[in-house]
Amino acid sequence: MRNDGMDTLERKALIFNVQKYNMYDGPGVRTIIFFKGCPLHCLWCSNPEGQPGGHQVIFKRGSCIHCGACVPVCPKGIHRISAAGEHVIDREISCIGCRACEEICLTNALSIAGTYMSVSDLVDIVMEDKAFYDYSGGGVTLGGGEVLMQPEAAISLLAACKRQGVNTAIETSGYANMETVMRFAEYVDCFLYDVKHFDPEEHLKYTGVRNERILENLAALLERRYAVKVRIPLLCGINDGERSIDGICGFLRPYADYKNFKGVDLLPYHKLGVNKYSQLDIKYPLSGDPVPDDAVLTRVKAMFNNRGLDAAVMRH
Ligand code: SF4
Ligand code: SF4
Repeated sequence: MRNDGMDTLERKALIFNVQKYNMYDGPGVRTIIFFKGCPLHCLWCSNPEGQPGGHQVIFKRGSCIHCGACVPVCPKGIHRISAAGEHVIDREISCIGCRACEEICLTNALSIAGTYMSVSDLVDIVMEDKAFYDYSGGGVTLGGGEVLMQPEAAISLLAACKRQGVNTAIETSGYANMETVMRFAEYVDCFLYDVKHFDPEEHLKYTGVRNERILENLAALLERRYAVKVRIPLLCGINDGERSIDGICGFLRPYADYKNFKGVDLLPYHKLGVNKYSQLDIKYPLSGDPVPDDAVLTRVKAMFNNRGLDAAVMRH
């Protein structure tokens, strides 16, 4: 394998979760490593703690006994107990991730999103489950947040995993310059590539960015024969309409017979991440109930299948 000096094991990545024994984000049994920071702000994001860079305090209000132990240990003055006895977190002050508050809290009311981890340590974690990958055809998937935002550490990690014979995937919005995407491509066995809406203005409305660069990068990966599975988070009234789905079908149709095009996964919206918003003192940005029912899923799946495109419903 080419060694272009990017596989430095000492590089640090800002990570907000590591999930083992995942069966959804790529083939087989997988370890998922969540990279912090994302250029998109999808209204339905189930990992809001992964959107900003840096560190955030996650506060389980119901577990707090207002003892005040976290107040004096914070070097930034982020915690205080109000005159009314309420625990107040000053979200305007940047948390430096020292974890002093997390460690002193006896009720586990506090945790910190964001840990700098070396590539070397991450490889060690991945390799703990090599036997499961070998048995199941699994491997490692880098997700987020958006892994493309930390290219140096992520590419080093992917390269190191490949050297150890571990299958690699990334779960991505595709929102980066093409050069960055192609640097990743050399070390990625399969892209799990989100297409959230076909209309650029609607994409902007729901995610905070337009989608032209996302679609250009997707086309380039498919044209250059890199393995790609397209994933569509499906939300009623947001992206399940005929125009958006038909647009995506038309875009993908030329690649239907490419061996490197691995089909489409439809990911029905779920509410698993809703609690996290209140723990971050953020108002949940999505109103209504956009969970697609079986009829919607059947209709959308049929639209792909009728255009000769493999599509499957993937429930988390
Ligand atoms: S240490 Fe824990 S329980 Fe005590 S005030 Fe802080 S968050 Fe609440
Ligand atoms: S991690 Fe450190 S800086 Fe951040 S809130 Fe806790 S004590 Fe304060």
